[in-house]
Amino acid sequence: MTLIGEPATASSNSTWGTERIIESDMRYVIRSWSQQGKPAQAAIARGEGSWFWDTDGKKYLDFQSQLVNMNLGHQHPRLVEAIVRQVREMAYMGPGFAVQVRAELGELIAEIAPGDLSMSFFTTGGAEANENAVRLAQHVTGRPKVMARYRSYHGATAGALSLTGDPRHHHNGPGVPGVVRFHDPYTYRTPSGQEPENCPVCQGAPHLEEVLQYEDPNTIAAIIVETVTGTNGLIVPPDGYLQSVREVADKYGIFLITDEVMAGYGRTGEWFAFNHWGIVPDIVTSAKGLNSGYVPLGAMTVGDRARQWLNQNKFWGGQTYAGHPLACASALESLKIMQDEHILENVRTQGARLDAGLRKLAERYQIMGDVRGKGLFYGVEFVTDRATREPLVPFGAAGAAAAPMQRMVAEAWEKGLYLSANNNVLRLTPPLIITEDEIDFALEILDDVIGAAN
Ligand code: PLP
Repeated sequence: MTLIGEPATASSNSTWGTERIIESDMRYVIRSWSQQGKPAQAAIARGEGSWFWDTDGKKYLDFQSQLVNMNLGHQHPRLVEAIVRQVREMAYMGPGFAVQVRAELGELIAEIAPGDLSMSFFTTGGAEANENAVRLAQHVTGRPKVMARYRSYHGATAGALSLTGDPRHHHNGPGVPGVVRFHDPYTYRTPSGQEPENCPVCQGAPHLEEVLQYEDPNTIAAIIVETVTGTNGLIVPPDGYLQSVREVADKYGIFLITDEVMAGYGRTGEWFAFNHWGIVPDIVTSAKGLNSGYVPLGAMTVGDRARQWLNQNKFWGGQTYAGHPLACASALESLKIMQDEHILENVRTQGARLDAGLRKLAERYQIMGDVRGKGLFYGVEFVTDRATREPLVPFGAAGAAAAPMQRMVAEAWEKGLYLSANNNVLRLTPPLIITEDEIDFALEILDDVIGAAN
């Protein structure tokens, strides 16, 4: 088995010892919400390909891609070089000027995106992309409200967190008004336990129409959905669902916004996840995989309806760092690498290998209730009992209640495999450059840790 990274050495940039880095990080840095109040699990020195090393020299296979972000892996030489080239030439130029990397990136996205999606507004991340998408839909339609699902995450700014349905929005007070919630096409757990084919929510239109009847379609600017839900359970919609949502949106003149911040740019084996179902949204939002996160970047890419409005109206949006030349240079190179290195093909091939491996494990381990995903965007839902589908840890569990899931994650980490879990779903989202040997390495460790938990 050939796995890169011998010998494992810590980076020459890490002049502090492990302990000092972790202590200072804890004392002087306000960490993201899920990380607060506990020291970092390791200090990391360097990365390469699908691997990273801690400051003590131990290496880990990155089966999470750092928040499902580093799709081309760590330190891709071409990406690093493109950023260095750009910073040497021109680090920053404001939106009043045309810059080739920005224009070229916009053009390449228009080539890659299907249908009439052809103009991009660049942001510094996914939350901003979603906020701007909703605002643009409100401007174009002249309507105030937006429909968003319960099992969703759309970002941590005030507006994006208001769109978010997962319990993280509890901490956001009442949030921004005007969000109407609807249910998810969660075929493994339908609302009343029906089979998916008899479930109005999983069909799309019947449930949406019911909600719209109470809300008045003429007040709804947009419906926003994660095409394939990421953090909140890796939910893949059944065939027909997105087409049905598209039809409802068309019927009432509502914008369909697909949030592909996690699912977009190759993660599912297509450029965009909605390509699997042959629909085209009015706006698609992206970030993460757009440039593998080497420099902060997000985008909303819009179709003709918004483009025509933009040709005649001013859109009141924009941030100082939006469309930053370094970010655009990295995205441009990233998309070219994806084309040159046939990344989508690799996602399909390695995704099929991961799928087969997981299903084989599921034959032996009863706690693996459901294996689902597309491409290299996978989740395993754990249960105490396959017949009742009782979750291995309850929804929203923390501390001791979440221990059975956290133990698997911790044991995998000990063995050199980095992955994460949310509630009772283990997420498997390796870099899109992952090799066959690396998939097998991960499956061996999963076999051990799931076997121990079963
Ligand atoms: N939308 C989805 C589906 C996400 O997964 C995320 C982040 O994980 C966001 C939006 C927010 O993106 P950002 O953290 O770049 O603001």
